[in-house]
Amino acid sequence: MEKLYESLGISRPVFSFAEGILEGLAQRFAEIDRMAEYNQLKVIKAMQESRVSAECFQSSSGYGYNDIGRDTLEEVYARTFHTEAALVRPQITCGTHALALALSANLRPGDEMLSVSGKPYDTLEEVIGIRPSCGSLAEYRISYSQVDLLEDGSFDYDGIRKAIGPNTKLVEIQRSKGYQTRPTLSVAQIGEAIAFIKKINPDIICMVDNCYGEFVEELEPSDVGADMVVGSLIKNPGGGLAPIGGYVAGTKACIERCAYRLTSPGLGREVGASLGVMQSFYQGFFLAPTVTACALKGAIFAANVYEMLGFKVVPDGTEDRHDIIQAVEFGFPEGVIAFCEGIQAAAPVDSYVTPEPWAMPGYDSDVIMAAGAFVQGSSIELSADGPIKPPYAVYFQGGLTWPHAKLGIMMSLQRLYEKGYVKLPC
Ligand SMILES: *Cc1c(COP(=O)(O)O)cnc(C)c1O
Repeated sequence: MEKLYESLGISRPVFSFAEGILEGLAQRFAEIDRMAEYNQLKVIKAMQESRVSAECFQSSSGYGYNDIGRDTLEEVYARTFHTEAALVRPQITCGTHALALALSANLRPGDEMLSVSGKPYDTLEEVIGIRPSCGSLAEYRISYSQVDLLEDGSFDYDGIRKAIGPNTKLVEIQRSKGYQTRPTLSVAQIGEAIAFIKKINPDIICMVDNCYGEFVEELEPSDVGADMVVGSLIKNPGGGLAPIGGYVAGTKACIERCAYRLTSPGLGREVGASLGVMQSFYQGFFLAPTVTACALKGAIFAANVYEMLGFKVVPDGTEDRHDIIQAVEFGFPEGVIAFCEGIQAAAPVDSYVTPEPWAMPGYDSDVIMAAGAFVQGSSIELSADGPIKPPYAVYFQGGLTWPHAKLGIMMSLQRLYEKGYVKLPC
């Protein structure tokens, strides 16, 4: 084994250091396997109850009327998330699109959107109009306000009470940390916040940005009162196989409005051809619980490796997990770049290219991204990215298999070691 690692470029000190870290993680990994088992059963049960059949994998074209595969898949999602309905489509191009859809479908001029988990994900800034943009919610006279999380990462209940006004129509909660170093919110915390908000005004729509959170815990935010959960199929629920897509699962009324917005008033969910992607959507969703578990193992391994080397990691090496993202704060840009180079070098695809920071659309600083993915930009596949700005943190996620996640982290350490940014016992 060590020889094979060596032939892939992993030196002896890195190999020994990694193996040493792993010895302490057996118990954690067993707990993750247990979670995967629970969520795997949940998905199988939903597929059985929805009577998924081989017919569901047929392709439809044109209008896509009576597409049984599409309609049944939406039933599978609704049963898994325990919601009344779901919209799961290749026509929803990504997570940002799914979130923009859920927001624009459910807000009207004069309404206010309130984020209670601080600044939303970077790409939502233009959707909302925090950074002015063409077609933003702000242009449609939908206002926005925000309550930051407290210092310790918990909800600011006093602040939320004060911020809710007569025009507050929708509250957004972002489960995952995104490009921030705050802790990720647990489903239990999200449930408490929703209960608090509904007590003030039961008509407020509670929407959770569920990106990266699916199948990490036994419960999803929709189990604790969320009216809508929203996510991307090139993250956890696509299981690495979905080539595109996003989903919104929630109440019948919310999902109906999303469908009318996605296609058109009157047409709603009746149209939308599935264009041959159905088998990958089903099979990816089937694999998603175990794929998520592999990604989680990688995140925990990375946390323990870099924590041992003295870097700040969020979450830390022992904390419970609520999403698959691992942040490592290097404090200097070269650390972020070397880490990403290592992840890239471990990939099955495009391993020979060197990632470089660039000005990506939707982000306000240069961003470096490492991904040698089968699906472009897929971040349930092993990937790492980081904005080149203080505190120079890298955000690492994914790994369709645990051995690949392990190799990626070892390779990142190898790069940092070669460049002299870390010292290892020999
Ligand atoms: C990835 C992500 C998004 C956006 O999803 P894309 O598919 O990249 O558009 C939104 N919110 C959070 C928390 C995310 O992690």
